[in-house]
Amino acid sequence: MKKLLIANRGEIAVRIMRTAKRMGIKTVAVYSDADKNALHVKTADEAIHIGPPASSESYLVQGKIIEAAKITGAEAIHPGYGFLSENASFAIKVRENGLIFVGPSDHAITLMGSKLASKDAVKNYGIPLVPGTDHAINDVQEGKKRAIEIGFPVLVKASAGGGGKGMKLVDKEENFEEQFQLAKNEALSSFGDDDVFIEKYIGSPRHIEFQVLFDKHGNGVHVLERECSIQRRHQKVIEETPSPKVDQALREAMGRDAVKVAESCNYEGAGTVEFIMDDKGKYYFLEMNTRLQVEHPITEMITGLDLVEWQIRVARGEKLTLYQEDITANGHAIELRIYAEDPMNNFLPSIGTLEKFQIPQGDGVRVDTGFEEGDEIPIYYDPMIAKLAVHGINRPLAIKKMHRAMNDFHIEGIKSTIEFGHYVLDHPEFESGHYDTHFVGNYWNADDQSQETNDAQKVAAFLAAHHWKSHINAIKLPA
Ligand code: ADP
Ligand code: ADP
Ligand code: MG
Repeated sequence: MKKLLIANRGEIAVRIMRTAKRMGIKTVAVYSDADKNALHVKTADEAIHIGPPASSESYLVQGKIIEAAKITGAEAIHPGYGFLSENASFAIKVRENGLIFVGPSDHAITLMGSKLASKDAVKNYGIPLVPGTDHAINDVQEGKKRAIEIGFPVLVKASAGGGGKGMKLVDKEENFEEQFQLAKNEALSSFGDDDVFIEKYIGSPRHIEFQVLFDKHGNGVHVLERECSIQRRHQKVIEETPSPKVDQALREAMGRDAVKVAESCNYEGAGTVEFIMDDKGKYYFLEMNTRLQVEHPITEMITGLDLVEWQIRVARGEKLTLYQEDITANGHAIELRIYAEDPMNNFLPSIGTLEKFQIPQGDGVRVDTGFEEGDEIPIYYDPMIAKLAVHGINRPLAIKKMHRAMNDFHIEGIKSTIEFGHYVLDHPEFESGHYDTHFVGNYWNADDQSQETNDAQKVAAFLAAHHWKSHINAIKLPA
């Protein structure tokens, strides 16, 4: 592989290029009108313009991306995350054109892209599943009946869901019909597929996921866990590894199950198996993401592996030269997703120009970003502008280092999640390691910080959010 096209933008495109360069592979960027001066374009050896800002007319247009690879002579395409990364028809098209798709087979993407199909695939492997329906529910009365059998609270979930969308919590029978309909509508508008199913809502849930890595020769390992329970809108904001809730025995059991999930679809490359764990330490398979994960840097920090390098090596057909017993955690790593959002106001998008954007540096501090000072944040894409990750020899020292790094991260022109990061890392619940996915609802929203926002700011934020939403709705998450 001499030349790689990265079918993505922002921090993940820049991050993939960094490894490709180190491996002596030339890089090709693609960009929309909104990104013509973006860092990922400047970082690449070559760049091809692929259309207007809306991703439905640029980053999601399969033909334009394959054409860009042909024009530049790139032999391989890395899809990053989001956009076309979990789109099986794209993987097929790339391969039909004689190019390497840096990712698993289209079969694995299709199977794991459907939450229902993936549960069906793993059920013979003895992997614990959340109690729920094993098929799509179309009839609201049937749904209600099943929900009563399962027991409230339940989640109505889109089978094709992702990014926390198409998911509705129903606390009691009276609310079932309304929430069921809302979930179905959101599933249709976000994923073009209104299949929904019902799952028991796990009380005091923790999101714990395992990184896996497989080659094309049937060898595979898990690369330890990540704890991702600090979430807003069912989406992660802070992740850490190792999980304060996972001891060695549990790690081995969950890791073995994660490997089995990957084996159930003959997985190739890097992927993530997500579990939900209750307050008694009982865990259940949630879904598998068949791509590089946003929060992969913390795994890299504690293991010393470069996951993008392994994705490329596997795609070239190389064998894994890693054995399970070699993969151990060195110290502790934490990541904060820095979103252009106002945490004081329901995490609504905050758009504008990065008047100041100064990045912290130092030992064990890593910033992944696709932005520079002076850049305007386009409204067309995901509002994550950077990831700040730190590595310390233990959890308390990693927390300390994260505070320092957040203090040294200077952003002006927009609101960001940095203040929220300080709040979480200072909180006794986080410090104790006993937090669950209700952290934001229980503490942050409950505290009175949102009361301080005055009416004018609320109106401005609402308009910004409305504008952003009408664009983001046009961006389809790959099924
Ligand atoms: P991960 O599963 O890797 O931790 P997320 O689930 O937060 O990350 O998001 C996965 C991908 O989906 C990201 O690329 C993100 O940009 C994209 N995504 C998340 N939410 C939305 C949305 N509402 N619309 C479009 N894309 C989204
Ligand atoms: P997505 O594809 O949108 O990432 P997931 O099934 O991975 O959907 O769920 C996203 C988040 O929603 C989880 O990290 C967790 O916080 C919450 N969640 C999902 N299923 C359950 C459940 N059965 N009980 C409690 N929380 C859940
Ligand atoms: Mg998920």
